[in-house]
Amino acid sequence: MTLDLDLYTSGQLQSQDAWLERYRHSVMQTFGTPQRVLVRGEGCYVWDADGNRYLDLLAGIAVNVLGHAHPFLSSAVSAQLATLGHVSNFFATPTQVALAERLLDLAGAPSGSAVFFSNSGTEANEAAFKLTRRTGRTGLVAAEGGFHGRTMGALALTHKPAYREPFEPLPGDVVHVPFGDPAALEAALTPATAAVVLEPVQGEAGVRPAPPGYLAEARRLTQAVGALLVLDEVQTGVGRTGSWFAFQQAELSPGGTGPDVVTLAKGLGGGIPIGATIAFGERNAQLLGAGQHGSTFGGNPVAAAASLATLHVIERDGLLENVAGVGRRLVDGVGALAHPGVASVRGAGLLLAVQLTQPVAPQVAARLLEAGFIVNPVAPDALRLAPPLVLTAEQADTFLEALPTALDLALAGAA
Ligand SMILES: *Cc1c(COP(=O)(O)O)cnc(C)c1O
Repeated sequence: MTLDLDLYTSGQLQSQDAWLERYRHSVMQTFGTPQRVLVRGEGCYVWDADGNRYLDLLAGIAVNVLGHAHPFLSSAVSAQLATLGHVSNFFATPTQVALAERLLDLAGAPSGSAVFFSNSGTEANEAAFKLTRRTGRTGLVAAEGGFHGRTMGALALTHKPAYREPFEPLPGDVVHVPFGDPAALEAALTPATAAVVLEPVQGEAGVRPAPPGYLAEARRLTQAVGALLVLDEVQTGVGRTGSWFAFQQAELSPGGTGPDVVTLAKGLGGGIPIGATIAFGERNAQLLGAGQHGSTFGGNPVAAAASLATLHVIERDGLLENVAGVGRRLVDGVGALAHPGVASVRGAGLLLAVQLTQPVAPQVAARLLEAGFIVNPVAPDALRLAPPLVLTAEQADTFLEALPTALDLALAGAA
């Protein structure tokens, strides 16, 4: 038995144009015009309402880590939903507890550490923001270019003026410092600083990895003033950069020299909404006390089952190695094109940006879409790739073959 979409289409198969017309009259206009209307997916491919197929190199913005319609994920979700779909946080479920333990284990968390579950990245960061207030200090330092979400607290940490300014006043005391500059960070820290909040790789800013040593230096500097180090791994976590968490590649380990808090979402549920805020060590794990934070859906057993299934398949299928191998192949392959439109490639694992020599990223992305490839023009002059972690070398090669023509066409249009 399946949901019959005919119920919503008056029995008629509808084209993308017809759906987009209905979208315009029913969905709030916060996202601009959608590029396509997608109706199904399988593995690394999705299909639109007109029957066209695309290789999905964005994965719902770093979310669908197992690709689309993964059988292990869908059966885990179905089985949990058919057993127990939701309880409130007046009750616990084995699924939720198992996921918390699994995350603490994968993160190498010391005893006393604990997880708070929510439904998105912005909520994971909102919880972290509230947690920092319980230190008795209010100062927060975040980075220029940083993106942490759209609720008021997460937005206060986010840097982009166009996102912030229409909604001021935002919660204080947040200052932003240039990303990757330890001296600027040191200058911003005071005895009133509660926490420093950083992404290991700035995703929305155009896939900008922290310079080597920066996170370790941020750890040293925060420790010196007694401030927390919060790492936003909403985009980089769950295998995206080739390790379970990006901080594990950054000369940081939990406990004494690791982060105090790590936030997760995006890939964590393999496509089912879930967020997590991990507080390392007993002191940090107890900052938010009984009644001080909550969520109706947080820890929902279906979302927790999706996450456990996702983590299981990443481990079972050796996907961390696949991320490293296919990521390297993409970096080398784009470099080997030696195309005049490409300046460089940066990123980690399967979170990459192709830096263009001219501001034609939207045009290149549009050409690639026409050719059957989904990428994201994350900046006017950069394309982001954040494909499923199951992307194969052969699939990556089809993109490498299509890229030069898309670049040629976009550059010819710009000339
Ligand atoms: C996407 C993202 C968020 C916000 O996550 P939502 O699930 O959209 O609320 C926060 N931080 C980072 C680093 C992100 O990439």
